[in-house]
Amino acid sequence: MKITGYEAIALNVPEDDPLANMPEEVGRTRPVVVLRLRTDNDIEGIAVTFYGGKMTGSLRVAVEELAAITVGEDPLRTEAIITKLRNGTGDSCGPGGIFTLALSAIDIALWDIKGKALEQPLWKLLGGHRDRVATYASGSLRRGLTDDQAQQAARILVQKGFREMKTQMALPGNPTPADEIRRVRVVRDAIGPDIKLMCDINQRWRPEQAIDIGHRVEDVGLFWLEDVTAHDDYQGLARVTAALKTPIAGGEYVWGITPFRQMLEARSVDIVMVDILRAGGVSQWMKIAGMAEAFNLPIVSHVMPEILVHLVAACPNGLTVEYMPWMLALYEETPAIENGELILPTKPGLGLTFDEKAIAAFKA
Ligand SMILES: [Mg+2]
Repeated sequence: MKITGYEAIALNVPEDDPLANMPEEVGRTRPVVVLRLRTDNDIEGIAVTFYGGKMTGSLRVAVEELAAITVGEDPLRTEAIITKLRNGTGDSCGPGGIFTLALSAIDIALWDIKGKALEQPLWKLLGGHRDRVATYASGSLRRGLTDDQAQQAARILVQKGFREMKTQMALPGNPTPADEIRRVRVVRDAIGPDIKLMCDINQRWRPEQAIDIGHRVEDVGLFWLEDVTAHDDYQGLARVTAALKTPIAGGEYVWGITPFRQMLEARSVDIVMVDILRAGGVSQWMKIAGMAEAFNLPIVSHVMPEILVHLVAACPNGLTVEYMPWMLALYEETPAIENGELILPTKPGLGLTFDEKAIAAFKA
């Protein structure tokens, strides 16, 4: 089998909140690039990459330039192709930024091809630890909502069957610690004690602020506090992690695999969160999962549940899948949720088919 062709298309995907329907800025879109990688036996591997912002046009070109290097290669030889891509760019376009976002798209498409060629769903190829996996609603309980809106959204998520959900602190404006604490308390009041509640800070606190506010919300029983300070302040994170009973999650902002070594050795986090696009695709995500397992730490995903469900379910230390619905509209069908768990697909590869009408409608 050989790679014979490729196509990368830039899209603007509507930014709405299909989970709780909370108000959004009308007409806002998220720029993404979709990739189709084709083989001589008519298999098409697909992938999505983003975080290009106003450079999404450049990201699309980068995906095509890397895809061109793969033509003629055997798509099952993932690591050989990754090395060829790194060599082809003189090893100097990485390890972060557009090179890695583009590389990740190629790697994801290669794994989709591998699954389709071997007629197995990706999660089985990667280890197949479980066939259903916990998931949490994300993106609906944002810091921009009022307390009333956050409570209303939280109740909608519970009614929809979610058993886990994530909210945010580091509220907009100039909040006092009391404001921050009130927000997680009102959400907890709305959902009761048995729903798992996570809280994302998105790197907006200093370590001492995280320790102060973290102590004050310990009785809320948060499942984790996420990205409490700058992602690469490994020692600062370790101070917060050591000081608080609440588990600290982090890692989504880290590029490649090597920084995870520093993060894990410094005991910066209790729960390792890995973004597949910043990590370098399926291949690198799984390596980080193995590293986390060796440190006796659980691993969780960031965005794109329709793809990450395979990876989290494959690992013995996979904890839960972030159900961030940003890209669901791109596909004809995405994994079902039953009793708060994602059901692993049985179709080969990623088990996803682009909805061609949506792709045409979103074209940039
Ligand atoms: Mg986050």
